[in-house]
Amino acid sequence: MTAVETDLTPLLDEIEAEARKSIGRGKVADYIPALARISPERFGMAVCGVDGSEYVAGDADICFSIQSISKVFTLELALKIVGSNALWKRVGREPSGNAFNSLVQLESEQGLPRNPFINAGALVVTDAITARTVSPVLQLLGSVRRCAARQDIYIDEEVAHSEADHGHRNAAIAHLLKSQGNLVAPVEDVLSVYYRQCAIAMTCRDLARAFLPLASGGQQPITGEKLMTPLRAKRINSLLLTCGLYDGVGNFAFRVGIPAKSGVGGGIAAVIPGKYAICVWSPELDELGNSLAGTRALELFARKTKLSIF
Ligand code: GLU
Repeated sequence: MTAVETDLTPLLDEIEAEARKSIGRGKVADYIPALARISPERFGMAVCGVDGSEYVAGDADICFSIQSISKVFTLELALKIVGSNALWKRVGREPSGNAFNSLVQLESEQGLPRNPFINAGALVVTDAITARTVSPVLQLLGSVRRCAARQDIYIDEEVAHSEADHGHRNAAIAHLLKSQGNLVAPVEDVLSVYYRQCAIAMTCRDLARAFLPLASGGQQPITGEKLMTPLRAKRINSLLLTCGLYDGVGNFAFRVGIPAKSGVGGGIAAVIPGKYAICVWSPELDELGNSLAGTRALELFARKTKLSIF
């Protein structure tokens, strides 16, 4: 394991103060009513080193809805369950250049979603787990808990219900996929698992820990457990870099230069291979659905530490 730098706490405090200046310029997601109630003033950041070191700032130990960040965990589990050959026949690996919940691209590309992180691709990945396991949600929770080295991670059922009640667009995508022959399990079952995976509640510290295996060649350094091969970790990181922030991914790579996954709950989890896993949370989003102050914080972190993958 690589030794990492000195105490990052003062740096994270400085980044929090600077990044907070972006608060007020974005909008908390309100298409899932249970998310609309979250205070825009929340800001947390956690940096976990592959050597077990941890540095936090602000609300790093408050739970929030991980939303699309969950797609990284389902992808890893689906690859494990069905294997990469089978999964990559059903979903692509290219950036979408479209909104995360777009239906247009899926229609024009005959049901082959561009990547596993847009909603259409994520529904196919969730279907791969749902169709092949008896308790897909429990399997997924177990997998997230192992990644995070923490047993009490839970699903916020209120958020899951709230999204289900307003999930017409995701239901439309799932039905379109079904009509195109790229969904095996019943639409309702896939959607139910999908809403619950998105409603997993975690803190910045939990998420940074859960992304540590991606920073350390597939091993969770806290428990020593090997969770995926180094090749799989590398490939997931590559997908984060090219597809992790929807159609904001190019600008994020330009500004930050670190593989990452965002969620509409305002979280962004990021990986600096061989060194750190990072999570930042600030609920206000930009027009593409990515955390505004969170992006700024990661940009500052990369700049001040001179750590990016480039
Ligand atoms: N549950 C959200 C949806 O499907 C996830 C979107 C996101 O976090 O980007 O709309």
